[in-house]
Amino acid sequence: MDRTLIILKPDSVERGLIGNIISRFEQKGLKIVGMKFSRIAPAVAHEHYAMHKGKPFYDSLVKFMTSGPVVLLVLEGNNVIDVSRKMMGATFGYKAEPGTIRGDFGVSSAFNLIHGSDSPETAKAEVSRFFKAEELFDFNRALEPWIYDLSSGNPQ
Ligand code: UDP
Ligand code: MG
Repeated sequence: MDRTLIILKPDSVERGLIGNIISRFEQKGLKIVGMKFSRIAPAVAHEHYAMHKGKPFYDSLVKFMTSGPVVLLVLEGNNVIDVSRKMMGATFGYKAEPGTIRGDFGVSSAFNLIHGSDSPETAKAEVSRFFKAEELFDFNRALEPWIYDLSSGNPQ
């Protein structure tokens, strides 16, 4: 099973959308293995968005991400990185397809509600950036056999 880091950005919290967004992931069948409410420190935001350093939106992005509390989530599931990125939609709210989180709830390019890791390598680095090992939980949900076909031993 794969894991990914999701951040419900300060606009999700301020707009009262966090329950709705978390529900979408739960309804999809993805497992929440880590979750906390936190304010991201500037140094951590700089590190998290280091790949965008020098771009015109970098300074305002760091300011936005540190402006208030966020929800940090670690989701687990089959192909969870691709699945959650698809559920998030395209980066800009005004371009994101209806049915996606960004497509349904936003129209901004900057205030786009949610971050999700974009590759297995970044997921690994991002999960450990925000979560200690003891803040992540290994547990079996009773409904797992109805989310995945487990008859072969591997989730299908
Ligand atoms: N962003 C922005 N203006 C841009 C591009 C990106 O404000 O022209 C912000 C936006 O909040 C986005 C974040 O910077 O989510 C990171 O950009 P990236 O291209 O990595 O998009 P994502 O992976 O979040 O879809
Ligand atoms: Mg990105």
